[in-house]
Amino acid sequence: MQHPENNDLYKGLKVNKGIADVPMINPYLKRVRRKELTVDDYVKGILDGNITLLSRAVTLIESQLASHQEMAQQIIEKCLPYSGNSMRIGITGVPGAGKSTSIDTLGMHIIKQGRKLAVLAIDPSSEVSGGSILGDKTRMEQLSREKNAFIRPSPSAGSLGGVARKTRETIVLCEAAGFDTIFVETVGVGQSETAVHSMVDFFLLIQLAGTGDELQGIKRGIMEMADGIIINKADGDNVQKAQLAASHYRNALRLFPKAESGWDPKVLCYSGYYGIGIKEIWDMLDAYRHHAIDSGYFTEKRLKQTKWWMKETIEDALRDSFYHNTDVMNLLPEIEDHVLNDRMTPFTAAAALIDKYFSWIRQNTNQG
Ligand code: GDP
Repeated sequence: MQHPENNDLYKGLKVNKGIADVPMINPYLKRVRRKELTVDDYVKGILDGNITLLSRAVTLIESQLASHQEMAQQIIEKCLPYSGNSMRIGITGVPGAGKSTSIDTLGMHIIKQGRKLAVLAIDPSSEVSGGSILGDKTRMEQLSREKNAFIRPSPSAGSLGGVARKTRETIVLCEAAGFDTIFVETVGVGQSETAVHSMVDFFLLIQLAGTGDELQGIKRGIMEMADGIIINKADGDNVQKAQLAASHYRNALRLFPKAESGWDPKVLCYSGYYGIGIKEIWDMLDAYRHHAIDSGYFTEKRLKQTKWWMKETIEDALRDSFYHNTDVMNLLPEIEDHVLNDRMTPFTAAAALIDKYFSWIRQNTNQG
């Protein structure tokens, strides 16, 4: 279109033609678009130890898209025969206990021995925040520069059960890619320890020496799960306090019944920051592995875990199907009201809802 000032009225003035705006999206990007990969491309890449493809496969595991999920399941199944050959270690501790510092130092120690390490995480808080700090590369400076270390933060979407399942599936892919040591990091609060415990061979609890009453602060359940308790920051003025705390823990552990593994949990002092006592931690993990393999417990525990995950997944799916059923959802507020006003016991209420659910199932299967 002619510019209004480009006419005889405005002699001596010439308005040049404008230049079109630069497009917001770079058209050249199309050329470098990612190639669509097949399941076999992924599997081959993973078995070749290709980290880029491993990462992309983990992204599929974490995706909410049904098509991605389907592909992920096929990749996992094909990788399954190549998995299992690793030492899986759960690491827990409250924020500030020194998890990332310790993982960095311990990780470097074992990489120097020629091992390949994957650091994964389960972070229940990420459900709320939408992001995860656990397993974050920036927190593990040395490891993040190592080609034999694969660091992946916690999947952030979904329930704790869902997040944990994704981490467990990621373990399979990492093992198939040749990672022989897997760390699963979690925060020492809440339910996530149980989930981690059910996917690792060894459960390591990081503690700090406190004022002498540190034992009161941790849940008995977490201590009972631990195969090893390591007391961090045993450096400088803190060495004696750490040793005192260690003896408190040793005494407390003696009161627990003997573990199924036949292994007596160990208590060690160390400094993740200064790298003191790191070798001893790895020696403990190695000693456990030998002990458990020799006694047959290593395999037995893994089989139990596999069964546990199957049952857990069934329970999750049933619960989900029940609470998302429209008939159940419609009836629930009314029944809840009866229960809260003492017109119905919780047991008859539950039975009524379950009846509703099953009659829905019967009707819908007959129609189908
Ligand atoms: P996380 O939250 O459990 O991952 O803990 P971090 O590894 O981030 O450590 C929390 C703080 O404790 C940081 O400021 C670390 O530098 C410090 N820290 C970690 N390990 C040690 C240690 O062995 N000795 C001392 N003195 N400080 C440490």
